[in-house]
Amino acid sequence: MSYAKRFDKRRLDEMRKIDAKVGVIKRADGSAMFQIGDTIAIAAVYGPRALHPKFLQNPEKGILRCNYDMISFSVPDRKRPGPARRSTEISLVTEKALLPVLDLKQFPNAVVDVFIQIVQANAGTRCAGICAASMALAHAGVPMSDLISAISVGKVSDKIVIDLNKEEEDHEEGATDIPVAMNSEGEITLLQLDGNVSKSELFQALEFAKKGCSEIDVIQRKALKDFYKGVKNE
Ligand code: UDP
Repeated sequence: MSYAKRFDKRRLDEMRKIDAKVGVIKRADGSAMFQIGDTIAIAAVYGPRALHPKFLQNPEKGILRCNYDMISFSVPDRKRPGPARRSTEISLVTEKALLPVLDLKQFPNAVVDVFIQIVQANAGTRCAGICAASMALAHAGVPMSDLISAISVGKVSDKIVIDLNKEEEDHEEGATDIPVAMNSEGEITLLQLDGNVSKSELFQALEFAKKGCSEIDVIQRKALKDFYKGVKNE
């Protein structure tokens, strides 16, 4: 059976409603909130600051340390709290997705810590976390050559779609989830694939991701500009 209409009636290339804001945590050096549909990510940046223990330091440049966590009550079936293989993996891919646009050469022996909390989850949390983290790093004033935007694309039953929600991820005829992150030039910094797609389907999905990320980039930049407009007016 074909997946004729999306469960929430979106077009195949339509993302859920997005909201983004920076400066949401006063004590952090930089912070941001990124919401897409019912998925909400908060990112807080601390640093650059001296890295301890010292043997972890890199005398040539600062290091980026990301910590992703989904809180227990972010999902209907309470998630077991504490670290798990999933959060370790997502923390690592988040670091790798963000590093290409960061310039940490000015900060030898230092660390930039990024804490990402998913306070509500309905699929696409790693992408929401990357979007929030990228904005929080810019808000912290960490030197960056660009922003990173991220969106999940994939296949639900026989249709290529953007921004799968949890109901779609759990479709009885199967779903393929492809989280993608890229800079504003469309250069990919993260591509994961959980499921099966043909080569041509993957290319179509990547086209959707490119369009989605460029829309997200505009929203991220607007949130940053709005914050500084507000600061000037205060
Ligand atoms: N999820 C859940 N419990 C868990 C992990 C995930 O309910 O312990 C849900 C949550 O809505 C999440 C979705 O499954 O967004 C998909 O998780 P996945 O690991 O594919 O990563 P994500 O799509 O969130 O980046």
